[in-house]
Amino acid sequence: MKLVKLIGNLGYGSRKEVSAMFREGRITDPDGEVLYADDKVEHAAIRIDGEPLDPPAGLVLMLHKPTGYTCSTKDPGRIVYDLLPPRFRLRSPLLSTVGRLDRDTSGLLLLTDDGGLLHRIVSPKANLAKVYEAQLAEDLRGDEAAIFASGELELESEQTPLAPAILETIAPRQARLILTEGRYHQVRRMFAAVGNHVQALHRSRIGGLSLQDLPAGQWRILNAADLETLF
Ligand code: URA
Repeated sequence: MKLVKLIGNLGYGSRKEVSAMFREGRITDPDGEVLYADDKVEHAAIRIDGEPLDPPAGLVLMLHKPTGYTCSTKDPGRIVYDLLPPRFRLRSPLLSTVGRLDRDTSGLLLLTDDGGLLHRIVSPKANLAKVYEAQLAEDLRGDEAAIFASGELELESEQTPLAPAILETIAPRQARLILTEGRYHQVRRMFAAVGNHVQALHRSRIGGLSLQDLPAGQWRILNAADLETLF
C-alpha cells in the first residue's frame, strides 16, 4: 500500500493533508531522515513528528473513562472519543468501544478496530470477568451475595436470568461485583433488584487487565503482553 494511503487510513489526514506532511518533512524514519511518499518502508520504521505511527488494523486501547462522558458517537454532549486524538475517530476500520460504560460510570474501557477481538471480549461464552466497585445508597442487607450467585436473578424485561455473579463486601455501603456478562445497566439494575441504589460505579478490571496508574481521562495503546493478560 502507498504510504499516503496507509497513513491516511490511520486517520492522520486526507490524502492532501498527508501529502503536505511529507512535503513539510514531518514524516521520517527512526533516525529522523525525512521519508518521501513513494519510499518503501516498514510500518514500524515510520515516525510522524518523531512519534511512532499508530499500529495498523488490530489496534486496542485502554481508556480510563471519567464520569460525564458517554460511549456513543451520536451524543451531543461529551463523548469518550473527545478524550482521544482526533485521528482515532477517522481510522478505517473504525475504532469501537468494547461494550459500554454509562455516562456516570468511570473506569476501564477498551476500544478496538478488531471486530473478532471485540466479540471475544464481550461474549458471555468467553467468561471474562468484569470487576466493578459500587458505592451504595443503603447498607447491604446480607443476602445479596447469595441472590447474585444463584444464577436465578431475573431483571425486568430480560428473557433469561443473569449468570451467577460474585459479590464481595468492602464496607456496609461499598461492594465489588464480578460479572461475566454485560447487560444494559446491569450493575445498577442488579442492586435496584435487591432494594438498593448505586451512587457511584467504577470498572476496575476486565479479565486480568486493570488500569494500574493510568489517570482518569488518559489512554494507552495495548501491546501483545497486555492482550495476553486480558484472557
Ligand atoms: N453496569 C452498569 O449499570 N453500568 C455500567 O456502566 C456498567 C455496568
